[in-house]
Amino acid sequence: MIVPVQRRQVVGVVASVGVAAPGVAARSILAAPDPDPAISAPLLELGLWISRYYGTPLGIALRALLPGALWSVRRPSGPAVQAERVVTLTAALPSLLERERAFKRAPKRRVAYEALEAIGGSAPVRHLVERLGLSRPAVDGLVKQGLARYAEVPQPRDPFAGLSSPPPPELTTDQRRTVDGILTTPPATPVLIQGVTGSGKTLVYLEVLRAVVASGRGAILLVPEIALTPQTVARVRGVFGDQVAVLHSGLSHGERADAWRALRQGERRVAVGPRSAVFAPVRHLGAIVIDEEHESSYKQGTAPRYHARAVALERARLEGARLILGSATPSLETLQLAAAGGAARFDLPDRIGARALPPVEVIDLRSAPRVSEARAVPWSEALDKAVRGALGRKEQVILLLNRRGFATYLQCPACGSVRDCPRCAIALTVHQTPPTLRCHYCGHEESIPTVCHNCGKATHRMRGLGTQQLEHFVGLRFPEARIARMDLDTTSTKWAHHRVLERMAAGAIDILLGTQMIAKGLDFPNVTVVGVVDADTGLHLPDFRAAERTFQLVAQVAGRAGRGPKGGQVYVQTRAPDHPALRAAALHSVAAFAAAELPLRTPPNPAYPPHVGLARFVASHRNAERARQVAERVATWLGRMNRERLGDALSVLGPAPCPIERIKGRWRWHVLVKASEPHAIGRVVRALGRRARGVVVDRDPVSLL
Ligand code: ADP
Ligand code: ZN
Repeated sequence: MIVPVQRRQVVGVVASVGVAAPGVAARSILAAPDPDPAISAPLLELGLWISRYYGTPLGIALRALLPGALWSVRRPSGPAVQAERVVTLTAALPSLLERERAFKRAPKRRVAYEALEAIGGSAPVRHLVERLGLSRPAVDGLVKQGLARYAEVPQPRDPFAGLSSPPPPELTTDQRRTVDGILTTPPATPVLIQGVTGSGKTLVYLEVLRAVVASGRGAILLVPEIALTPQTVARVRGVFGDQVAVLHSGLSHGERADAWRALRQGERRVAVGPRSAVFAPVRHLGAIVIDEEHESSYKQGTAPRYHARAVALERARLEGARLILGSATPSLETLQLAAAGGAARFDLPDRIGARALPPVEVIDLRSAPRVSEARAVPWSEALDKAVRGALGRKEQVILLLNRRGFATYLQCPACGSVRDCPRCAIALTVHQTPPTLRCHYCGHEESIPTVCHNCGKATHRMRGLGTQQLEHFVGLRFPEARIARMDLDTTSTKWAHHRVLERMAAGAIDILLGTQMIAKGLDFPNVTVVGVVDADTGLHLPDFRAAERTFQLVAQVAGRAGRGPKGGQVYVQTRAPDHPALRAAALHSVAAFAAAELPLRTPPNPAYPPHVGLARFVASHRNAERARQVAERVATWLGRMNRERLGDALSVLGPAPCPIERIKGRWRWHVLVKASEPHAIGRVVRALGRRARGVVVDRDPVSLL
């Protein structure tokens, strides 16, 4: 409803009905445009839970529940159609030589050309200029030169419109057994489907959803990032047709509001979307499926900082729906839940069609013969030969380069050991001014040793290399190959990624290289070689989940190989070939990874989730000293609260500078608290969420950077 606040009119939600406190002059509601409550009773209950659990003010928690348009006093009537100027490449310059010639005196134009090519050959001009920082005259220049053209495109186009797929195949025995098992599990018990890459989890979800819909109820399917999962969306459309509402970031406000209404009124029964779709107003909710449940994109990075898995668990409980979590590499949280009897686990241990999981060769960068022209790019002869072989046979290659390293760590080139914090067991970061090694959890500092503590050889400072460097090298090395790069995480380019994936599926790309986004759920049978160029940048990030992320990433990207009859082979280059995360990934073994990692997060080692709960408080300020002081005060307050009211249930770490010390000109410091008692964390999270200005409160953080 619409209510007056000071001199403005705003949209409000009735959370409860009561009597105004004495002395407060109540004002009247101005209008109530909805015939039915916009938020159903269980969803309102869910909003209250989010507010309590994450320490978020109720108003902000409820914002997540409704599409933006419904929070506007003036609601949009229909889908807003706007035209936008889009530039599209019209000429290909595949060889380096042609490129040198075309851009001889126009280096900026070349940058524009290559950026455009890397994001799929077409993009809104506004995006190129505002988000990617390209020069407008350079883009104009490309058009004048006849290499690109402009078009006015009505915006936005729905990249999923018309997407469909043939009717699904018959279930295999394993799939059938899993579906039956799930449908006979009591609905209140969450289910984990742990199925290796290529085991056909999607078909299991669809079959369960079909049973749910047949019983007259609705369902939600969450996918990590919808632009990167066109195949899954197509399969869902193939089964449910126009009963499906696809909720994605390309929808206009009006379209989103329409999809929301169609679900609310029961015209559509199945919602598919990224984390926010967990709030889809599906009627008679019967099931929530979370595909790739280990993905960190399920955690929202702004308030309310909810995790879709936690919210789904609560929503399923409130509405009596089933919760189904699926992954080839489940999070340790979910594995622990299943091990403790809190979830039923079903395994799909084999790939469809009895295809083998691809063998993984771990290449030791300390000793393996390297291609010398590669210089700073770690490029072994074994990987080189494999890529050349695949290209020769007209097969496709995926090269993964872990996200850009930003933190420099200290590693011994001889034995590969990395200097960790003695208290926190995370990699120490090298600082230049003054030269020190510093722990970004607890603030521990030590001088930079010149020799390795383990073997006595001289140490090296290591930093990740970037995808651009890699692309440049691969382009020179394989000049005839058609190469695409995917690594820019910006909204508008997501649709460009979608097009890159379409070209990959059509065989128009030989080598796809990029960051973690190319590791997700892709099913390209002609990919026979997968290379992890440097597994170590991610392994030594100052984050206690560094090993878990690396395991998941390497196992997932390995799972992209050998999905067709030609089989496949995976190469993982590292200086830490004996690291349990890499050994387990090479075996595609979740059990091996969990067996190695869980004890490391359990006392007497420093305790981390899932053994304890965690919350993080981040203070940021333009002035470095102010940021530190605020963090200092938070830590002091937490310490006192802990002693006086919480019986020492918490352990407080920090303050310490965040591993990413500065974002957009603001210096960042953080304080962490851990406790095996969720109640204690809840108390401080709520108190600081209410009171501490300029402090971000993040319960169950997935990133500590
Ligand atoms: P996952 O998500 O477990 O990695 P997918 O669901 O992508 O696996 O399935 C892998 C491949 O196997 C897909 O190409 C899919 O179409 C195919 N597939 C799945 N189930 C069957 C089945 N019962 N019969 C034949 N092919 C199947
Ligand atoms: Zn430490």
